[in-house]
Amino acid sequence: MTVFLVGSGPGDPGLITVRGLDLLRRAEVLVLDRLAGPELPLEAPAGCLVIDAGKAPGRVAMTQDEINACLVEHGRAGRFVVRLKGGDPFVFGRGSEEAEALHAAGVPYEVVPGVSSAIAAPSAAGVPVTHRGLATHVTIVTGHEDPAKPETQTDWASLARASGTLVLLMGVGRLAGIADALVAGGRDPRTPVAIVERATSPTQRVTTGDLATIAATAAAAGVSSPAVTVVGDVVAVRDAIGWAERVPLAGRVVAVTRPRAQADGLSRRLADLGARVVQAPLIRTEPVPGDPIDAAAYDVVVVTSPNAPALLLERIGGDARALHGVEVAAIGPATATALREIGVVADLVSERAVAEALLDLLAERAAGRRILIARAEEARDLLPEGLAAQGAEVEIAVLYRTVPVVPDSEAALGADAVAFTSASTARAFAAAFAGRDLDGVRGVAIGPATSAAMRELGIPVAAEAADHDLDGLVAALVELLG
Ligand code: SAH
Repeated sequence: MTVFLVGSGPGDPGLITVRGLDLLRRAEVLVLDRLAGPELPLEAPAGCLVIDAGKAPGRVAMTQDEINACLVEHGRAGRFVVRLKGGDPFVFGRGSEEAEALHAAGVPYEVVPGVSSAIAAPSAAGVPVTHRGLATHVTIVTGHEDPAKPETQTDWASLARASGTLVLLMGVGRLAGIADALVAGGRDPRTPVAIVERATSPTQRVTTGDLATIAATAAAAGVSSPAVTVVGDVVAVRDAIGWAERVPLAGRVVAVTRPRAQADGLSRRLADLGARVVQAPLIRTEPVPGDPIDAAAYDVVVVTSPNAPALLLERIGGDARALHGVEVAAIGPATATALREIGVVADLVSERAVAEALLDLLAERAAGRRILIARAEEARDLLPEGLAAQGAEVEIAVLYRTVPVVPDSEAALGADAVAFTSASTARAFAAAFAGRDLDGVRGVAIGPATSAAMRELGIPVAAEAADHDLDGLVAALVELLG
């Protein structure tokens, strides 16, 4: 087996390569970098051994030798090892040392390139690193070396004379010395500079100035690592291009609290409008194991959530034909869609995704029929009791349960808005942040039931969707934040 040194891209989990994501989803051992971000590791399969080698300042972390030894050890043991590294593995970040250690130990490895922050951070801020007429070359430099030290390996004077774009990685604290060295070497003190912190993440921030002013401006703004500094006339192009500012939710941070499995549609729509989406899943669904279901033993199978169809299919033996001749009822259109994905067209679909609506549809035809309700462990009893009261023979198949997830609270509470798609996510939110001050939260609800739950829980309702579906929710967010 091979060790894969995979570039994770600059921060946005959507910017990893297709090959990198495919490997990540098959990893047996995942060794993380501090820059890898919170979301990509969630793509690793259940049971994957996750080792956080992150070198966060002030936190005890593995030394480079320990990381190398760890990669060699798991590689030698024949495991499928993914070493996820921020940006591109071979742009700083010591990926080459890891490759050398693997090579020396005779462990086969492969390097999967990534989108480097050196290019992506300027680009995300609207700065092209090259431009016809402004910069014919770009130099990527470590800001780690103090220009004032005699042993510096970087020839700042010649970098100052070369007219192209300079991209500095690391060393935001040495900005003053570097700017001085560039000016002393002959660069115009009015050369524009942009610093991009946490590029492509929900908290990206851009600070601008020129070589004469940038160190003071950055200090006043509290600029901190990770940040990329770009120096050159191309920085001025930013205003002309301004691509990130032209979309309705540009630069706005929206937290999406849906369970991960369902979050993608909403997150994607918001991202397409320019929002930076924080996925703060507060609950996730976990299958509950159970005996095989003999679908033919029932007249009606009631499916009560979009999570249920895939799990139901497994329980009935993986073949949708087992439902042949059985009436299938779905709670709301989203559940009907999930059923279609397993090749089943529901016979009955309630308009709204609430138990009351489905009970209304089924009540008249319930008497004397054998009805199976496929649902979550913690579901309400309204449906089974209501159907039994009409004379049906009701059985319940518990397919899954929802379990709480510890969210990235700073990102969720710091968002410009938090989108709530159900009363249950509102309850999970309140539980996750019990004891925290929620007054500053700008909650946006999909509909009145969600709003009511939010108010009861002390979550401020800044807006409520006029149409109670995802399109309506997105429209309400655009109206509030756009
Ligand atoms: N291999 C990485 C760089 C590792 S060195 C790459 O190709 O991007 C670490 C430095 O990268 C940080 O100090 C910072 O300068 C830069 N960096 C990485 N991710 C960044 C991000 N999202 N925003 C700004 N700078 C980033």
